[in-house]
Amino acid sequence: MSAKNVKLPEWDLEAIYKSPEEWEKAFEEIRPMTEKFAAFKGRLGESAEVLKEAVEAYLALSRLTEKVYIYAHLTLDQATGVDSSRVRMGKLQSLLAELAPQEAFFTPELLRIPKETMDTFLKDPVLAFCRRFLEEILAERDHVLSEAEEKLLGSYSQVIGLSGNLFDTLNDTDLDFGSIRDGEGKRCKLTHGSYRALMENPDRGTRERTCKKLYKVYRQFRNTFAAALDGTVRRHAVKAKVRNYESALCAALNGDRVPESVYRSLIDAVHGKLPGFYDYMELRKQVMKLEKLDMYDMLNPLLPGCSKTYTFEEAARLVKEAVKPMGEEYGRYLDLAFSQRWIDAPERQGKRSGAFSSGCYDTYPYMLMTFKGTLNDVFTLAHELGHSMHSYYSHLTQPYIYSDYKIFVAEVASTTNEILLFEHLLAQSTDPRFRAYLYAHIADEIRGTIYRQTMFAEFELFMHETVEQGTPLTADLLNKKYYELNKLYYGPAVDPLKEIELEWARIPHFHYNFYVYKYATGMSAALKLAQNLLSGDPAKRDAYLGFLKAGSSKDVLDIMKDAGVDLSTPEPVNAALDYFSRMVGELRKELKICKEI
Ligand SMILES: [Zn+2]
Repeated sequence: MSAKNVKLPEWDLEAIYKSPEEWEKAFEEIRPMTEKFAAFKGRLGESAEVLKEAVEAYLALSRLTEKVYIYAHLTLDQATGVDSSRVRMGKLQSLLAELAPQEAFFTPELLRIPKETMDTFLKDPVLAFCRRFLEEILAERDHVLSEAEEKLLGSYSQVIGLSGNLFDTLNDTDLDFGSIRDGEGKRCKLTHGSYRALMENPDRGTRERTCKKLYKVYRQFRNTFAAALDGTVRRHAVKAKVRNYESALCAALNGDRVPESVYRSLIDAVHGKLPGFYDYMELRKQVMKLEKLDMYDMLNPLLPGCSKTYTFEEAARLVKEAVKPMGEEYGRYLDLAFSQRWIDAPERQGKRSGAFSSGCYDTYPYMLMTFKGTLNDVFTLAHELGHSMHSYYSHLTQPYIYSDYKIFVAEVASTTNEILLFEHLLAQSTDPRFRAYLYAHIADEIRGTIYRQTMFAEFELFMHETVEQGTPLTADLLNKKYYELNKLYYGPAVDPLKEIELEWARIPHFHYNFYVYKYATGMSAALKLAQNLLSGDPAKRDAYLGFLKAGSSKDVLDIMKDAGVDLSTPEPVNAALDYFSRMVGELRKELKICKEI
């Protein structure tokens, strides 16, 4: 039965505000609360008591603003075409922009309080509830400039981000990729949105044409893309230098208190396990019966036609069964996602595409997805429930101030759920084709998340080190390095087409700041934690639940260590890639049984 015929769950946003009028009332509170907070300007250094009151005013304001924002954002995303929702969001955004300067005093003023005074304040029990919060801000003290210098830099703040804006405008607005004929002769428009689906097309000719057409356009603008990226990387390098960091890498990792060695040893560990990846490429090549693979042979399904469909109820049941290793309490909380209606699953005109989990301390951890009944949708449900349960546990356990977890650990709970679902489906099925499909699914996830993101991380490091040595980034230099990295990572079974040298130009993450390595460390952690959960050891399960409850109450590496995975060593990455090799071995066995190789 098609999932479309069955009524899919819609979320209960009235649990946030009963009506748009209730939202208006809360919205009206933002201005007076901002003024109340802003009244502390110039007073933070008076006493520990005054500082406590200022922090409380700040927290109350941010807690209210988050709730008001979540309602505006979720009502908009469920149907972006509705005028009243667009007006609501527009109104909120202009108010927040108007009020932002009034709140800006807090961090700079805090950092200017003399160290001795601050040390005395921090010993005062009235500040115990926010000591960690203040210390995180104060950790920046060695990297803050004089008041006049900060003011000068502040006045340049809008100019400083221009290279990223230039990239966005060029990439999202100005480029026109034209259209492409797919294998059935159907003409479809080539856009960033349709590119991925076209690269998953089983017809190899379609994929090749798509790839060549896309990069032809990037080649035309390669020098502009390189100049934008040069601007972004130079900004990171200059910022690190004027703020007294050893390097751009150190500056970027400092916020999470992650040492540089974690980043570099990730790259080394992946290099050490490249033969395992070459082996997977060799197997893909064999199944596809090709002399050599090309870069457009990565996203097409290895076994087309393995399409089971699921109703939403079946999907929910599978996920619930899969996460049983997390224990009875987790299962009970998970049921709330359905009984309290955290999920919006139907297809709808104007609904935001993709899937996400979103909420705040005073709302449910909502989820948006478009459920069409594919196996991928079942994995998406497991993934987003992982995010939402992480939020649920952290919100339940932590005070507001430490309830939000950091990006570094953000994908761990969601990926752990996906791995548990994979293991559960595998344990249930004896059909070799379906089992092969599952092994290929997990292998592709690890390929995309650990191998590919580490290749990105290595490229990012190359760009920053090049600029720090005084060499500007040109299109030729970037092309050359990017092509070499593809050759190195994909190995002898792959003969990359020349066009792939330009892929760097279209990756928005290269304009972030050493961000993508977190995908690789996050998935490595998740693989280890899923194995811990499956071992059935109650101590390991409790350690995992401790991670879900931790929010941002400790440093990220400490949270992960207490959960059972030490990311300060390369061991988890090595273990993840050994797991990958085992999965590829199992995939090969199943493919032999189905006579695909
Ligand atoms: Zn996610």
